[in-house]
Amino acid sequence: MGGMADSAKKIFKKGDVLIREGDQGDSAYVIESGSVEILIQRDGALIQIGTRGPGSIIGEMAMIDDKPRTATIRATEDCLVMEISRADFARRVDSADPILKMVMRVIMTRYRDMISRSQFMPLPSHALTSAESAENSDEFHKLAVNALKINYELKAALSKNELMLYYQPIISLKDMKIAGFEALMRWKHPEKGLISPGVFIPVAEESGLIVELSRWALGVSCDAAKSLHQAADRKLLGNHPLFISVNFSVKDFSSGNFFDQVKSTLTSKGTEPAHIHLEITESLLMEAPAPAKEALERCRHFGTSVSIDDFGTGYSSLSYLHYFPIDTLKIDQSFIRSMSKDLSSKVLVKSIIGLAHNMNIKVIAEGIETEQEASILTELDCEECQGFWFARPMPLDDALTFVKNWVPPKIA
Ligand code: C2E
Ligand code: CA
Ligand code: CA
Repeated sequence: MGGMADSAKKIFKKGDVLIREGDQGDSAYVIESGSVEILIQRDGALIQIGTRGPGSIIGEMAMIDDKPRTATIRATEDCLVMEISRADFARRVDSADPILKMVMRVIMTRYRDMISRSQFMPLPSHALTSAESAENSDEFHKLAVNALKINYELKAALSKNELMLYYQPIISLKDMKIAGFEALMRWKHPEKGLISPGVFIPVAEESGLIVELSRWALGVSCDAAKSLHQAADRKLLGNHPLFISVNFSVKDFSSGNFFDQVKSTLTSKGTEPAHIHLEITESLLMEAPAPAKEALERCRHFGTSVSIDDFGTGYSSLSYLHYFPIDTLKIDQSFIRSMSKDLSSKVLVKSIIGLAHNMNIKVIAEGIETEQEASILTELDCEECQGFWFARPMPLDDALTFVKNWVPPKIA
């Protein structure tokens, strides 16, 4: 488990001390609600040098080093805070993009210098107060606090069963039979309603919580594959086992035991490997080519297929297709969208399909919204399609009905 997955919420009552001057600190807090006062010892008395309210970060020096706390922070109202440990913070900095990391280090060093200078100044330290409030009002700060909040709620959502998978059918073009489904995550928030993965997946990827989400999604998909396979009208299925395609992220591969996780989940669920496809993006492969290759080879040897998602949006070099063990390419919907409008996009899709076929790789086109798109793809010899024209992603119950009652469309 990594990142913010181990962040925790804490409640402090009015008068409680959150941070005590002189103590060793290893965490900072983000105030969600309530307010605190900042106090320092001078000549045996506690003097208030400032107050902080919701959205502020306190005790952040502990993120930089383990020097004793330079002030006492006490709740002036009941407070709800999120705790960030130094270990967690360090993990985040470590996994940040190199430029971001460099800028972080520079800012942290300057901040530390400024604080140590300010300790020799008479109080209250205006330099410190204004620098702190500038930082607190910063857009970045708000974004970071918001991401932290989503992440905390998301972790809770997993244990409260608020996460669910929707299933979107993948249809074989030559006979219009059901080949499988892609599992797409949804967050059923009690107040905000259905939240799209475009909002919460990036936050979970950033914090490392994605590893838990992926593991959960794989387990649920194993059960779904079983029920869908059993419920299906055999006449509506192709010759291959009905599959569920599960999305994975780069963090899933960084733990080093990706294959073992997949294998143990499938084994414990009693799922045949052929019922599960692993869906990953080009950028994932490029971030850590060697470990990804090894993990994928083991998965494939075990019997689970590997699909490249959003093909065409990431890397222009196609040579990696030879390097990685790949069964399927999923052509991104942006190509499909422009294909019916201009000839050059159609030629591009045609050549992607040709290239894939030369390498014994199957093609799935994503985001089919019109009959015309389906018709062009049939003409181009694309094997499978997925899109609103066939069906939108749906909850398992609807998918169970779908595999019994699907009426294959006829393409003119
Ligand atoms: P994706 O993997 O490319 O998934 C396909 C997205 O296209 C889905 O959006 C799907 O609802 C949408 N889509 C399908 N057919 C059509 C169509 O005909 N027209 C249009 N306009 N859109 C179509 P969704 O479900 O909102 O998911 C968004 C992205 O979130 C996914 O893109 C994927 O990157 C990520 N995601 C979703 N579930 C998971 C998950 O369980 N794990 C991970 N790591 N990522 C996930
Ligand atoms: Ca996908
Ligand atoms: Ca996609």
